[in-house]
Amino acid sequence: MTFSVTIQSSGQQFSAEADDTVLAAALRAGIGLPYGCRNGACGSCKGKLVSGHVEHAVHQASALSAEEKAQGFALFCCARPLDDLVISARVVKGAGDIPIRKLPSRVAQVDKVAPDVVVVLLQLPAAERFQYLAGQYIELILKDGKRRSYSMARAPHLADQVELHVRHVPGGAFTDQIFAETPTQMRPRDILRFEGPLGTFFLRDDSDKPIILLASGTGFAPIKAIIEDCILKKTRRPMVLYWGGRRPHDLYMDQLVREFSTRLADFRYVPVVSDALAEDHWRGRTGFVHRAVLEDFADLSGHQVYACGAPVVIDSARRDFVSEAGLSPDEFYADAFTTEADLARDPVA
Ligand SMILES: Cc1cc2nc3c(=O)[nH]c(=O)nc-3n(C[C@H](O)[C@H](O)[C@H](O)COP(=O)(O)OP(=O)(O)OC[C@H]3O[C@@H](n4cnc5c(N)ncnc54)[C@H](O)[C@@H]3O)c2cc1C
Repeated sequence: MTFSVTIQSSGQQFSAEADDTVLAAALRAGIGLPYGCRNGACGSCKGKLVSGHVEHAVHQASALSAEEKAQGFALFCCARPLDDLVISARVVKGAGDIPIRKLPSRVAQVDKVAPDVVVVLLQLPAAERFQYLAGQYIELILKDGKRRSYSMARAPHLADQVELHVRHVPGGAFTDQIFAETPTQMRPRDILRFEGPLGTFFLRDDSDKPIILLASGTGFAPIKAIIEDCILKKTRRPMVLYWGGRRPHDLYMDQLVREFSTRLADFRYVPVVSDALAEDHWRGRTGFVHRAVLEDFADLSGHQVYACGAPVVIDSARRDFVSEAGLSPDEFYADAFTTEADLARDPVA
């Protein structure tokens, strides 16, 4: 059975099969609805049903509460149409233009850059040019069919190889194997298939608002790609990066970021460490990274914020920036690095 879906603001229309999610059908039609995890955990794809009905697959209550559902909100990454729909959703320019493909790659290099972070370089087939927007991610397709998402850390113009920053999540099905004493995953020369590019976490360059970049841990990966892209494009928008970690070594490319300051006209870097030990001799900013932003910017009403990393950091930043500093919720762009643990928390159908 096929249903029609109309986006109220733009009048764009696409068709969705009964077993399609609204997001999958939109992407297939080349229409860029905002989204992140595609698992019902992060809430980036939340929009409103103006008319019609949907059925949700299992998702997280934190991404869509019962009250929001009662008010007609839906998570389009896991909502299937039951009849024709009219929806209210932002359309993201540029997101639907690049085809999402499955590609093979070969692991070219794996470098440990912190006790729990590796930088992985994936070599693409010689004839392939892989197009994406700085900030987007790919899904690695593992041998058992499971998928794991990783943000691409290089700007597209530097992408002869795909660069990923992978943090060890203890107990994690995939990263435990990468960080094992005898790794069984992601060794040089391994073949890895992936699908991408995915996500709508990229710079909205139709705005001239000053930018706050907020990264926790490996959330720096897509932010690095965005900054490299801005260097290429000689972006002049004021930009401050707040990069947070528990210990100084969590800011595993600190020196590179300091060099960015010399290559980008109006770029500042604020490293923030929350749990430094005496032996670290840390003299920089301390505390939660998103609170450091609020200490420096009492008013964010004229800013755009791009935040990436641990879900708790993203959620706290969104909440506090909007409620305490007047940030417009529509100007908060984020990719939350959700894991199986987040999917298991508060599941609702
Ligand atoms: C859009 C996106 C982009 C991402 N980009 C990056 C990136 O650039 N870099 C990066 O490091 N990570 C990134 N991630 C996270 C990444 O995709 C993986 O989730 C992460 O690497 C963990 O994978 P894993 O297989 O090792 O752990 P998982 O198997 O997902 O397990 C994670 C944790 O959950 C626990 N767990 C597993 N199952 C359950 C259960 N049923 N109940 C309770 N707990 C459970 C495990 O013990 C473990 O502690 C991204 C995620 C998203 C959604």
